[in-house]
Amino acid sequence: MLEGMNDTIAAVSTPLAGAGLGVVRISGAAAVDIAERIFDSVGGRKLSEIAGYTALFGHVHDTDGVIDECVALRFAAPHSYTGDDTVELSCHGGVYILRRVLRAAIAAGARQAEAGEFTRRAFLNGKLDLSEAESVMNLIGAQSREEHAAALAGRQGAVYDAVTDCRDRLVSLSADIAAWVDFPDEDVPYVTADGLVSGLREVDGKLERLIAGFESGRLMREGIDTAIVGKPNVGKSTVMNLLVGCRRSIVTDVAGTTRDVIEESVMLGEVKLRLSDTAGLHDTADEVERIGVDMADSRLRRCQLAIAVFDGSRALDEDDRRLLSALDGKPCVAIINKADLPQIIERGAIEAAVDCTVTVAAGSGLGTDEIAAAVAAVAERWKIDPSAPLLQSERQRDCCVRCREHLSAAIDAAASGVTIDAVGVCISDGLTALAELTGECVSDSVIDDVFSRFCVGK
Ligand code: GDP
Repeated sequence: MLEGMNDTIAAVSTPLAGAGLGVVRISGAAAVDIAERIFDSVGGRKLSEIAGYTALFGHVHDTDGVIDECVALRFAAPHSYTGDDTVELSCHGGVYILRRVLRAAIAAGARQAEAGEFTRRAFLNGKLDLSEAESVMNLIGAQSREEHAAALAGRQGAVYDAVTDCRDRLVSLSADIAAWVDFPDEDVPYVTADGLVSGLREVDGKLERLIAGFESGRLMREGIDTAIVGKPNVGKSTVMNLLVGCRRSIVTDVAGTTRDVIEESVMLGEVKLRLSDTAGLHDTADEVERIGVDMADSRLRRCQLAIAVFDGSRALDEDDRRLLSALDGKPCVAIINKADLPQIIERGAIEAAVDCTVTVAAGSGLGTDEIAAAVAAVAERWKIDPSAPLLQSERQRDCCVRCREHLSAAIDAAASGVTIDAVGVCISDGLTALAELTGECVSDSVIDDVFSRFCVGK
């Protein structure tokens, strides 16, 4: 738990870089008082005299004088992001200006906010649950339409609703068990092992789907692990550079020059890839090159998507054919490169072996759109339904996994005819895991960990 949760906190909430506007946010019981000490409105009205969601134009100053023109926007508790009184001072987005305004707010009685402290207060004030708080950071970091849609749904409570749905079902099963155990002679519904098992399986299935969705979401957030493979000199590094948009790999016409694995994260249309350019896949006697080639072989086995490059101006040789058979069953886009030269490659053999084949002249900078379209087509298999609840963090996934372990024990206990209150104990442990996910019952160290991932000012 942070010291001074009752302090009024302040931070620069926009990036510290030259920009049109920049915002210093002040939140806490003394926010309006502190803002009034460093802000004078042009018309003489005070922030304490205006209603929430209204703004005044004026100047922000410190003891040395005016710092900048400023719009001060007031939020009255509990109708603010944090739930506490809040004032946002919008000035010009200059680094010097914003630092000086923040110093003025601190001199007037505020404390510098720690990373994520505004959102932490929103959580502690019940404005959002822990799953929604985690969605805030994913929303800020979203880089694609899908990533954004999933984070926004999480922020609006999709994960919370899904978990609450599971919790309510478990609470109801628990209540049935408790009534049955405590009042066996009363007129309470008859609890059967079959009824319990089917209720537990239903919840378990929902959690299983949430966990599976998280794995797809991880691809969306972190990028599809993609290896650019092919024998030496077909144009792998040129393709990598084309996709990355700069000369990242070393391009030479000496076969086997890319000796180690070079990694880069790129957005290709709406799909995020974690790209790596590997040494050529072929037999070699050179020891240094050999190490690179071994790494390339293992990258091909490990990667989720292969971009296999072939030289269209040459016939397929042993190395190419070996690569084609290694690609069997692997999601793959084949690139037939060097389309500017006369084409003699056996295209049909490649098309028969992989999902999608495109022809490009990467050396002339042509083909990015075609490659992006082919990658998007192959990546369809990982597409997630952004309207479905999507777990927002490893922590949330871990809570679901733990809940499933307890449900599995509950199902075993119910099916094997162990006393019914043993089933109730397992369900109760499962409920604890779900309460940790939403933050209803969670240790301070977990909360500290969640908010330590936030930026200052959020
Ligand atoms: P890697 O060994 O597979 O990484 O191949 P590189 O990207 O280093 O390229 C090998 C050679 O092929 C270099 O001389 C490139 O300039 C050349 N190259 C790459 N793409 C093309 C292309 O589209 N057309 C032609 N004609 N040459 C290319």
